[in-house]
Amino acid sequence: MRLEENKSLAPFTTFGIGGPARWFVEAQSEADVAEAARWARERELPLFVLGGGSNLLVADSGFPGLVLLVALCGIEEQDSPGDDVVLRVAAGENWDNVVRRATAENCAGVECLAGIPGTAGGTPVQNVGAYGQEVASVIGRVRAYDLRDGRAIEFGAEECGFGYRRSRFNTTDRGRYVVTRVDYRLQRGCAPTLRYADVQREFAAGAQPSLAEVADAVRRIRARKGMLLVEGEADCRSAGSFFKNPVMSE
Ligand SMILES: Cc1cc2nc3c(=O)[nH]c(=O)nc-3n(C[C@H](O)[C@H](O)[C@H](O)COP(=O)(O)OP(=O)(O)OC[C@H]3O[C@@H](n4cnc5c(N)ncnc54)[C@H](O)[C@@H]3O)c2cc1C
Repeated sequence: MRLEENKSLAPFTTFGIGGPARWFVEAQSEADVAEAARWARERELPLFVLGGGSNLLVADSGFPGLVLLVALCGIEEQDSPGDDVVLRVAAGENWDNVVRRATAENCAGVECLAGIPGTAGGTPVQNVGAYGQEVASVIGRVRAYDLRDGRAIEFGAEECGFGYRRSRFNTTDRGRYVVTRVDYRLQRGCAPTLRYADVQREFAAGAQPSLAEVADAVRRIRARKGMLLVEGEADCRSAGSFFKNPVMSE
């Protein structure tokens, strides 16, 4: 484990601002996560889990404990029955790369989530969603490290407490778990989701776009709204939306 001291967090966030981490470590494996957790616990230091820094505003005063950067990598295709394809993704993988892999392999379920910044491990935390899809509907399992009990644990989707931009990871169990791996259950050969008018308008009437074409259309729409990270583009120095849509009963 390579610990760094007084490491500036600004470059690790999409805002590009904020003070330093008193201690900083990059975890490339579950063993690294366990070791870092033990190190912080022995010193009674708070631990903060950092993914892609795209939903985060770091205080100018920085963070007084250990910041653990989730950098576990790897995407594996698991065997599963029928047309289902399970992509087993390590938490540090870039989310848009996961979408690219899924659409390139003609697997439906995440094409409208193209262009959302951050890591795969960040997706179950607030149940990311956009343009008619959300990850809760494709997540099969979430593997995590329990910082309280010091052990790995797996949750089925029904145990994650998913709701609109919420899960157990950002509500009742906020700060307790480090997500290390997510299984996404996708459907090979299924038609893309074309529910949002914005996305429908990108295609001629009657067109039957591929999953990759829909994902590209979503990236184009997001770019027009400053919601796609583009190098050097000042508009995308944000943390995404600062609001939730109102949810009303019928
Ligand atoms: C331009 C832009 C557009 C966006 N568009 C959307 C959108 O359309 N839809 C949407 O839902 N969101 C959107 N977001 C918000 C953001 O991209 C998502 O919330 C993303 O999933 C955050 O992931 P991250 O890895 O960057 O998390 P971070 O910003 O690093 O962390 C966010 C929170 O999750 C926790 N966390 C991160 N990784 C883990 C982990 N492995 N285990 C446990 N906790 C963890 C952190 O502790 C922190 O509390 C947008 C953001 C930006 C900047």
